[in-house]
Amino acid sequence: MDLKLDQIYDRLYQSAFGLGIRILPGKGPQVVSGAHALNRINEILEKEGKLHPMIVTGPRIVKSEFFVNACGTLKEYSLFSDVRPDPDTKTVEKIAAMYTQERCDCFVAIGGGSNMDAAKAASARIARPDRTLQEMGGTLKVRRRTPLFLAVPTTAGTGSECTVAAVVTDPETHHKYSINDFVLCPDYAILDPVLTVSLPPFLTATTGMDALTHAVEAYLNRPYHRRETPGQCREAVRAIFRYLPEAFKKPDNLKARQEMLFASFKAGLAFTTACVGNVHAAAHTIGGMYHVPHGLANAVLLPIVLEDYGKKVERPLADLARFAHIAAGTDSECAAAFIQKIRDMNRTFGIPDHIEKISEDDLDQMASWAVQEANPLYPVPVIYDREHFKRILRRVGQLS
Ligand code: NAD
Repeated sequence: MDLKLDQIYDRLYQSAFGLGIRILPGKGPQVVSGAHALNRINEILEKEGKLHPMIVTGPRIVKSEFFVNACGTLKEYSLFSDVRPDPDTKTVEKIAAMYTQERCDCFVAIGGGSNMDAAKAASARIARPDRTLQEMGGTLKVRRRTPLFLAVPTTAGTGSECTVAAVVTDPETHHKYSINDFVLCPDYAILDPVLTVSLPPFLTATTGMDALTHAVEAYLNRPYHRRETPGQCREAVRAIFRYLPEAFKKPDNLKARQEMLFASFKAGLAFTTACVGNVHAAAHTIGGMYHVPHGLANAVLLPIVLEDYGKKVERPLADLARFAHIAAGTDSECAAAFIQKIRDMNRTFGIPDHIEKISEDDLDQMASWAVQEANPLYPVPVIYDREHFKRILRRVGQLS
């Protein structure tokens, strides 16, 4: 083992952080699932004694039949319906201001990770009017109670409905960063498969590959595993390999849609304590810099980074491959089959093996953001420094 001084510091930090994670009480949201579970919002609000929810969504969802029907059952609410993919900090500030002005008493976020994260970040600003979003970037910087939060995913990918993270982008610098705090974990997650039926096949695939990336990266981050983490990751991986191709082929297959929502949720629970890894650190820089959808960036990066980890990940990838019934044989054969399976799925879904927009001129900035995100927090199998991230980004952009 040949570790540099800063990598030794990273590993010590991760050992200490891992001890803390294992003794924290595990608290996830209450789950309400099944077809048309969305119609139970009113019942939940009544039970919680909330009278004026702030609904946060985007321009596509606001026009959908399920959204219009669900809002029809509410007596009073405020509506922000202009969240765009990769929400920026200006949008978050608008939501927080509207919440305060209109005296709302809870959040209902309906949409993909972008809509849920915009609302989660706004809830952090409401809890902490004294801190900017930038100041809350990183870990445990909110530390105050946030409003009651109902999260309703319409993609099966990010797991934001059960995670402690809210990812936002600074519109001036293009820096995409995460605010991570236990207070940001939603109180309720409504997993209604009917809401994901309208998701087009390519978005179904890329968001599903995001969930796979969460499960795989969390599985590799052993120092942060709680007792339940490996099982959550394995089950999520097996379900995604089985049900994502079905949801892709048959968008109205409610069984596949529900299983994908459960898988994304389990992967979210796993990574909210075990963290993600170098795939995500690099994907966030690509998303922030070039607006490449998050799931797409992860799908392209995942096999490249796993291959780069090499022998260090053979055993855990082989475990996952065997559990998902993808391969049998030696660790090395099973790990190779696992990576190949990801490549095959990407090809079936029409996901490319590289991203064209990456420019050599941006690599320094992107690599330093990625290092800042990953180290020392993520207990990854191989710690990447700036040069290592640049090599990976070059490979993803086919620059060399
Ligand atoms: P998204 O929310 O950005 O949505 C992508 C597109 O899909 C949008 O155009 C949206 O309108 C459309 N869409 C969503 N649901 C639809 C439906 N049912 N039918 C038709 N169209 C629909 O995509 P996402 O992948 O869910 O979220 C990505 C964001 O989440 C990124 O910013 C990413 O960084 C963040 N993220 C957050 C976490 C977390 O824990 N908070 C984890 C992973 C990713």
